[in-house]
Amino acid sequence: MRYISTRGGAPTLDFRAAMLAGLAADGGLYVPETLPQFSPARIAALAALDYPSLAYEIIAPFAADAFSEPALRAMIAKAYAGFRHQATAPLVQLDTNHFLLELFHGPTLAFKDFALQLLGLLMEAALAETGGKSVVLGATSGDTGSAAIHGLRGKKNIEIVILYPAGRTSDVQRRQMTTTGDPTVHALAVAGTFDDCQALVKDAFTDAALRREVKLLAVNSINWARVMAQIVYYFYAALALGAPARRVSFSVPTGNFGDIFAGYLARQMGLPMGMLMIASNRNDILTRTLATGEYRAAGVAATLSPSMDIQVASNFERLLFDLCGRDAGRIAQIMQEFKTTGSLTLTPAAHAMLRSMFAAQAVDDKTTLAQMKATYETSSYLLDPHTAVGVKAAEELEGMKVTLATAHPAKFPEAVQQATGVMPKLPPHLADLYEREERIISLPNDGQALREYLREL
Ligand SMILES: *Cc1c(COP(=O)(O)O)cnc(C)c1O
Repeated sequence: MRYISTRGGAPTLDFRAAMLAGLAADGGLYVPETLPQFSPARIAALAALDYPSLAYEIIAPFAADAFSEPALRAMIAKAYAGFRHQATAPLVQLDTNHFLLELFHGPTLAFKDFALQLLGLLMEAALAETGGKSVVLGATSGDTGSAAIHGLRGKKNIEIVILYPAGRTSDVQRRQMTTTGDPTVHALAVAGTFDDCQALVKDAFTDAALRREVKLLAVNSINWARVMAQIVYYFYAALALGAPARRVSFSVPTGNFGDIFAGYLARQMGLPMGMLMIASNRNDILTRTLATGEYRAAGVAATLSPSMDIQVASNFERLLFDLCGRDAGRIAQIMQEFKTTGSLTLTPAAHAMLRSMFAAQAVDDKTTLAQMKATYETSSYLLDPHTAVGVKAAEELEGMKVTLATAHPAKFPEAVQQATGVMPKLPPHLADLYEREERIISLPNDGQALREYLREL
């Protein structure tokens, strides 16, 4: 499979190079040149497979040129072996036609483990050929960093450096980053905000001199391999509920548009699907885009669902590329326009195409808490605040529907307790998280300090 940039100005790459590149050199995002197609008969034949076997069938067309079949199967099996549920991504029934897809049985209790557990193994294997040390560098407001650390830790020739804003993540999130005891893990507490952390990381990635000395890799949600891994569970859930004969809609708690874009890809690959609901909190850029056809940035508001507190949804560019007839020149132009004006306008045809597949709802904190309380009262189920946004938004969907449960309630215990009066318990493998020894490394909010740290690794 070959990968092209949404902006048309970067070289076409194979899977391995696209994964190691992260962002394309022209500022665009890599997308596959074509999508593998699954006929209804082929989909029906996948129904009996367990999660890792299904994952192989979905992922192989994208990555088979980089790895042999046994190597890819082994990495997939290993990636999901650490999940604490036999079904990997179990469905739980909330109501007659409404199911939750629990994506939080991985090591860090959020759906990001699905992609990052696999990405760590794929990167390790891809780098084994080139040799030499690489440094995975990223910034986090919480979930991405912990999932990246647990996906990349202890990999041969890879150090993982994650910047987080000191005092601004939840205790669970911080402890998941600081208690691994793994010498390849460097969780750096920056005296600043998440935006400061991101600026430091961006600064390092654009420093040509530094990059000649230190091989830097990115694992943020624009990395194609992450999106790819997330396609699998849409097939898995739909198959369990009767696909291809039955059409299922999905409600997806959305921030950077990575998770829901994977759902769109499943649909484009042939999986019969109803609507894809973009469920957001007060940071509602996508809800406004659906309503008006204008994609316009606004300030970020802090909410109870912090992993969805974003100003612009980076993966949306991949969808725009398709909505604009895969016209890379046009994407380069409108993204430039967006950069200068903070706004871009869809053509009527692109807007109509968007609305034919996606719906959107923005849910405020008060409604989120009310949903958590209601679901606990009616179904004795504790929702985390991100999932609660999805469950609320799913009310607008018809027919058989699945809400993606993106985090375990114990990852956001204060909000859960506030809504339901119940303090959610950490699962057994993390029960001692609060007793584990932390390794706190402080970093000044200063680009030079980060450069020095990276050079000394
Ligand atoms: C990252 C995250 C999201 C948002 O996912 P995107 O792919 O950025 O849309 C939603 N919920 C939780 C718990 C997350 O960690």
